[in-house]
Amino acid sequence: MITQLNQLQFDNRLVRELPADPEMENYRRQVTGAIYSRVSPTAVKNPQLVAGAKEVAALLDLPELIFTQPEFAQIFGGNQLLAGMEPHACCYGGHQFGNWAGQLGDGRAINLGEVRNQKSEHWTLQLKGAGPTPYSRTADGLAVLRSSVREFLCSEAMFHLGVPTTRALSLITTGEWVRRDMFYDGNPQLEPGAVVCRVAPNFTRFGNFEIFSARGEIDLLKQLADFTIRTDFSHLLVNATVEMTVDTYLQWFNEICISTAQLMAHWMRVGFVHGVMNTDNMSILGLTIDYGPYGWLEGYEPDWTPNTTDAQGRRYRYINQPRIALWNLAQLGNALYPLINAVEPLQQALENYRAEYERCAQRDMTNKLGLSQFNAVQDQPLTENLLHALQSAEIDMTIFYRLLARVSLDDIHQYTDQQWVDIVRPAYYQAPDANAENIMANWLRSYAQRLRQDYVVNGNDDLQRRQRMNAVNPKYVLRNYLAQQAIDKAVEGDNSEVEKLLQILRNPYDEQPEYEAYFARRPEWARRKAGCSMLSCSS
Ligand code: AMP
Ligand code: MG
Repeated sequence: MITQLNQLQFDNRLVRELPADPEMENYRRQVTGAIYSRVSPTAVKNPQLVAGAKEVAALLDLPELIFTQPEFAQIFGGNQLLAGMEPHACCYGGHQFGNWAGQLGDGRAINLGEVRNQKSEHWTLQLKGAGPTPYSRTADGLAVLRSSVREFLCSEAMFHLGVPTTRALSLITTGEWVRRDMFYDGNPQLEPGAVVCRVAPNFTRFGNFEIFSARGEIDLLKQLADFTIRTDFSHLLVNATVEMTVDTYLQWFNEICISTAQLMAHWMRVGFVHGVMNTDNMSILGLTIDYGPYGWLEGYEPDWTPNTTDAQGRRYRYINQPRIALWNLAQLGNALYPLINAVEPLQQALENYRAEYERCAQRDMTNKLGLSQFNAVQDQPLTENLLHALQSAEIDMTIFYRLLARVSLDDIHQYTDQQWVDIVRPAYYQAPDANAENIMANWLRSYAQRLRQDYVVNGNDDLQRRQRMNAVNPKYVLRNYLAQQAIDKAVEGDNSEVEKLLQILRNPYDEQPEYEAYFARRPEWARRKAGCSMLSCSS
């Protein structure tokens, strides 16, 4: 452990090893011939800590006490730099809603540098909302408290759910007001400004490669690819000094396909909907990145998207996410083509994505249902019928799976439809009619029968099954209305609900009976309230 921020050791490999934009002035422009531009955070009036994540501090060898040191808010609000920090913004492009959008880049993100911790791990620190950069286009480079609370809490919630993600060290209000048209209806409001410090091994996106490929800057493409492989995929290299071969790039692309498949399976398992799966929001490390208008499925609605901008085409709806990730990987494959010059092995990697996704999704469903093994003949229809039953009424996905663990084989032989449905009734938003009740009761009967057989064959029992289920079916997720309640309080200067949610979401699979109130359906008032059902990109 170190005790002071100025003891952090920086080893800024990206800045040192990759070409910089020679222009040092901070104005909006197209940046060519460079991977990044040097740019400093904009000073703010009165940075104040809202919340910090001690687990993320620990990654940097810092104790929890660090958050209370007065210089913490100054540094991570953007007013001061530590010795060794070399702030910069990276150039990237991307496909947005299926169309090539040209240069995007870190428009409101500034990397401060790479901390090397005592385990020799490198962690890049990045401020989000710390002012304009050369990539800000027409926007202000800022972020508001509303979206920053959402990013801070969800990053940590995802980590504790076991979902790969960028992390969040701190959430700081700037003491400035930021104008946002939250509803895109011509009525902008002033909202408190905030800065989140994000932490990840790197923040490189598919779009970082796409931009150089699109511009024909193949030398930059190769430099960034080689750098990424050397720093974060070094297990692919027998020897650090050896030149990369076509085979190295292919193995690398294959790994990106595999980790992205695993990420999609995680999202589907926990009911997370990202909302803006543009290629500039896809991490090369398979991390969840850029928490904007994301949401959690409440009623199990496969076609739900939280993003108002996506309401028409529903490209980024829950059920479509695995398919979109594949499409995004195909764009990355196109971008990397100049390093590989062969189509067939790239296509094979995309096939491997499909297979890995199927494997993970099947394993997750097996665990979600508490079965010992997936038996395709029985469990394929069992699963399909479940997804059908979940749509027979408005049924909360999180609550349903959690309650399903309570099914017991001891006392249910003679249950009526009603009695069966009683087991999962708290997951229903409205009382089901007889038909819906019958669909669910029949499914539960078939499930119980399957369990009985599983117990006989595999020597399993209710207790073991419950443990297995409760380890993959979270009890507590960051429901939109919960995040909104924490935001409403934080805007009033009361950070207690942010703290409380962070605490609850640290142990999402534990019973935590003291927080039972957070294991509840979305209340009716939240159904149509902004921030609680649909969200705009305005952040
Ligand atoms: P997103 O859809 O939020 O991932 O953002 C897409 C692009 O817009 C990225 O290049 C962001 O850096 C940029 N961007 C979003 N919001 C802002 C903002 N307030 N100021 C500057 N750039 C922004
Ligand atoms: Mg983004």
